[in-house]
Amino acid sequence: VAAQLRSSGLLQIQGLIGGKWTEAYDGKTIEVCNPATGDVIANVPCMGKRETADAISSAYDTFKSWSKFTATERSKCLRKWYDLLIAHKDELGKLITLEQGKPLKEAVGEVSYGASFIEFFAEEAKRVYGDVIPATLADRRIFVLKQPVGVVGAITPWNFPLAMITRKVGPALACGCTVVIKPSELTPLTALAAAELSLQAGIPPGAINVVMGKASDIGETLLESPQVRKITFTGSTAVGKKLMAGAAATVKKVSLELGGNAPCIVFDDADLDVAVKGSLAAKFRNSGQTCVCANRIIVQEGIYEKFLNAFSAAVRNLQVGNGFTEGVAQGPLINEAAVQKVEAFLQDAISKGAKIQLGGKRHSLGMTFYEPTVVGNVNSEMLLSREEVFGPVAPILCFKTEEEAVQIANDTNAGKLLIFDTMKPCRSWRVSEALEYGLVGVNEGLISTEVAPFGGVKQSGLGREGSKYGMDEYLEMKYVCMGNM
Ligand code: ADP
Repeated sequence: VAAQLRSSGLLQIQGLIGGKWTEAYDGKTIEVCNPATGDVIANVPCMGKRETADAISSAYDTFKSWSKFTATERSKCLRKWYDLLIAHKDELGKLITLEQGKPLKEAVGEVSYGASFIEFFAEEAKRVYGDVIPATLADRRIFVLKQPVGVVGAITPWNFPLAMITRKVGPALACGCTVVIKPSELTPLTALAAAELSLQAGIPPGAINVVMGKASDIGETLLESPQVRKITFTGSTAVGKKLMAGAAATVKKVSLELGGNAPCIVFDDADLDVAVKGSLAAKFRNSGQTCVCANRIIVQEGIYEKFLNAFSAAVRNLQVGNGFTEGVAQGPLINEAAVQKVEAFLQDAISKGAKIQLGGKRHSLGMTFYEPTVVGNVNSEMLLSREEVFGPVAPILCFKTEEEAVQIANDTNAGKLLIFDTMKPCRSWRVSEALEYGLVGVNEGLISTEVAPFGGVKQSGLGREGSKYGMDEYLEMKYVCMGNM
C-alpha cells in the first residue's frame, strides 16, 4: 500500500509551510504506526514553536491575497480540490485504514464524506451575502459587510483523519481565510496527502499550512499569536477547555467539537429491526471511536429482553480484524491507552454489578483489537454511563417511563447527539424538544451530512460545522454607516 501511495505522490512525510515541504528545524521526527500491525509507516517531522510561527506568518501573508480572490475564483479552487479528493478516493481510503485502522469500506466512506464538505463550501463561497438595513435617519444608509475573520488555527483528532479537517478548512477557505492545520500526530499522513492535493488544485501556497509534533507547543504558539484570529478544534473536552481559556488572552473566535455521551433511547413502540440496526451502526462505527457513538443504550422495560437478545446476536456477527481484510467491520483501537481505558471502564462497571453479555476482553488477534462487547445491568453510577468509553462497548440500561428516559438522557454535562426509536409522531416531537442536545436522530443513528449543522450544546462544544451556518464561524460582521447623504 505504501509503495502505491508513494508512486501517486500522496505519501507526503514532511510538514507544509508556505507551500514548501519542510522538516522540523532541529531534524527531529516522530513515528507514524499502523495500529493493526504495529509497523512503522513513516517518520514525520516533530515540529514546535518556530515552525508554527513560520506557518502562521505564511498564512498571514497569503491571507492578504487569498481574501481578495473573487468568490468565484475561490469556489473554483475548492471545486478542483474536491474533484482531486474524489479522483484519489481509493488511495486516500487506504491511507486512512493504514494509519487509523478503520475498515477500508468505512475509510473510503470517510473520503466521500470528507470531500463533500469541500464541494458544499465551494458552492457556499459564492453566497456570502451582506445586508442593507433601513436607516433611522433620512440622510443615512446602513450596510452590513461579511468579511473573513483572518488566519485560522485548526486542531484535529485521529478518529476521522480527513473529514475533521475538511469540515474546518472548507468553510475557512471559502470565506477567504487561510489556515494552519495541526492534525493528530497519530494520523498526520491523510492530512498531508489532502494538503498535497490542495496544491495540485491550485489553492495558493501558504493558504493551507500543516504542522505537527509537540501538540502543546504548537497549540500555545497558535493561541499566543495575535495574527491567528480563530481557533477551531475537534477533540477531547479537557483540551478544548484549555484552548478556550488560552484563546482569551488575544480574544480569538473559538469553535469546539468536544466529547459526547450520546444516549440511544429505544421505546417500547420502536420497530425492533430499525432499533437494532440503528443502534448497532451508532455504537460500533469506527470501533466505537467517534464523539457521536451511542455511549448509553437506554431501553424501555417492555422491549428490553427482546432488544438485548437481538442486539447481542447482531454484535456477535461483527467481524474483527485488519481493516484491509474483506468483510471486517471492526478494526483495532487506535492505541494501547484506548484499550486500557475500555478495560478500566469495564472493571468499574463489573465491580458495581454490571453483567457482561458478550465480549469483555481483548481479542485473540492481539495488538489493540478488542472484542465487541455488550454489557447489561448498567446504571448511572458507572463510568460507562457517565463518560465516553470511546471503544466497542455497548452498555444497556433499562427505563420505565418517557420522563425517566428524558431525565437519564439529560443527566450529563455533554450534549451532542441523541438518538431515539419510536413510531409515535407526537412522541418524536415531544422528546426532540425536551432533550438538551445539539443533534437528534429519530429512528436513525447516522445523521451527519455536510448540508446540516453539526455540533453540541453544554460541554460538548461551541459553534456548528457544515451547512450554511458553518460559514458564520469564519466570518466577521462589519457595520458600515454612511451619513450626510
Ligand atoms: P483525543 O483523545 O481524541 O486524541 P485530544 O484532545 O487529546 O483528543 O487530541 C485532539 C487534538 O488536540 C490532537 O491533534 C492533539 O494533538 C491536540 N492536542 C492535545 N493537547 C493539546 C494542547 N495542549 N494544545 C493543542 N493541541 C493539543
